[in-house]
Amino acid sequence: MAEDILDEESAQDAAEGVEIRENTDDAEIRDTDIVFDCPHCGKNLVIDYRGAGLQINCSECGERVLVPIPDGMELADLDLDPGEILKQLFATRRNYQKAELQIESLKARLVQLQETLGVMQEVVAEGLS
Ligand SMILES: [Zn+2]
Repeated sequence: MAEDILDEESAQDAAEGVEIRENTDDAEIRDTDIVFDCPHCGKNLVIDYRGAGLQINCSECGERVLVPIPDGMELADLDLDPGEILKQLFATRRNYQKAELQIESLKARLVQLQETLGVMQEVVAEGLS
């Protein structure tokens, strides 16, 4: 049927089989691996590039962790032909992460504006009394 439709479920399926590893001294890091710190416990983690943009569980604390997509990561650089669908999937995940970051910065800006507004309202209230 419509098994070629790329939805959240297939992204989850893709996450399976992508092994998260701990970055220890004797750990074997490949060029294609993504190395990052767990935002919850700070554990240094290593994951295959195929995990980029996926949510995985930290091997240390078990929290959900969003695997970062390395800047300038080009699938063409890799010794593989991941196909157009995977490229699109990466682009989609990257855009999603960017959108999340924008939302965060807009939220922070909104808080600032609300604080400023609060101060201005106080000033106006004092001026009227
Ligand atoms: Zn962790």
